[in-house]
Amino acid sequence: MPRPIEARIDLPALRHNYLVARQYASRQHREAKAWAVVKANAYGHGLLRAAAALGDVADGFALLDLDEAIALRQAGIRQPILLLEGFFEAADLSVCAAHDLSVVVHRLEQLQMLRQATRATPSMHLPIYLKLNSGMNRLGITAAQLPAVRRELEAAPALGPLTLMTHFAEADGVADERCIAWQLERFLAMTADWPAAANFPVSLANSAAILRYPQTAHDWARPGIMLYGGSPFADEDAASFGLQPVMTLHSRILAVQEIGIGERVGYGGSFVAPGPTRVGIVACGYADGYPRHAPGGTPIIVAGRRTQTLGRVSMDMLACDLTELPDAGVE
Ligand SMILES: *Cc1c(COP(=O)(O)O)cnc(C)c1O
Repeated sequence: MPRPIEARIDLPALRHNYLVARQYASRQHREAKAWAVVKANAYGHGLLRAAAALGDVADGFALLDLDEAIALRQAGIRQPILLLEGFFEAADLSVCAAHDLSVVVHRLEQLQMLRQATRATPSMHLPIYLKLNSGMNRLGITAAQLPAVRRELEAAPALGPLTLMTHFAEADGVADERCIAWQLERFLAMTADWPAAANFPVSLANSAAILRYPQTAHDWARPGIMLYGGSPFADEDAASFGLQPVMTLHSRILAVQEIGIGERVGYGGSFVAPGPTRVGIVACGYADGYPRHAPGGTPIIVAGRRTQTLGRVSMDMLACDLTELPDAGVE
């Protein structure tokens, strides 16, 4: 028998959360669409599983790897697919075209590659998400680079349709901190003297922005973490937005220890029993992906009731408090 630990994925919850994201996004932009961000194997939930759950509702899918994009096409996904980091070399472009992918362009050199590829294959019209660096300083065209990018775009009028994009660095900040306004200002300033830009669709909002600033959702929002039932905020939980958890981790109790006052549990003895304590040892540890830094006291559900972990998480086990759960034990 394999170790009795499993991650259960609730696909109706994923679908529900996607619809919540789009509902928020459409509060101020009726026509707002939402890329289902399924990068990193759908945040660990399984790319094809997520695609199957969202296949008939999602407006599009956004991810990082060309291979994952191709896997979606092969699974029958017909909606737009966006490569969030764009393409990495010119040779990728014919593959992108063959699978009808949309690409982020965040560097001038990518546009030059696109122009050359379009010259060689005039039928190539990859939709382009032109990513502007509005202050996150990770990816994107800066204000200083924008004139050269515009010249490049004007020199290659046969390129595919253009959408303007930026990414917020602090949308999950506390409300009276910097948050998004400063980046929005920079984004607008960058495009203010570009008359054509007024007609381009816009894509700005990640989960945090969708939930707190739905006015930023515009044409294409980009929800990620919220699809999986996670809150992007430290001070507000997912349930308060109507989001449902998609993944739950289940395991079994392997052993029970009855200990007396002053006895310790686990590595470093960081839990000291304040009185007689029933300790459940669960087959789940950091090698299974449970966070090693989760402190003693982290909530855990045993037999349908909430209790807490005790002491440090081991590689393949953790301890929980069964003192108030006399019926719970080795399963
Ligand atoms: C990952 C990512 C998202 C989704 O972000 P969440 O905070 O998980 O909603 C949106 N846009 C881009 C460009 C991303 O890389």
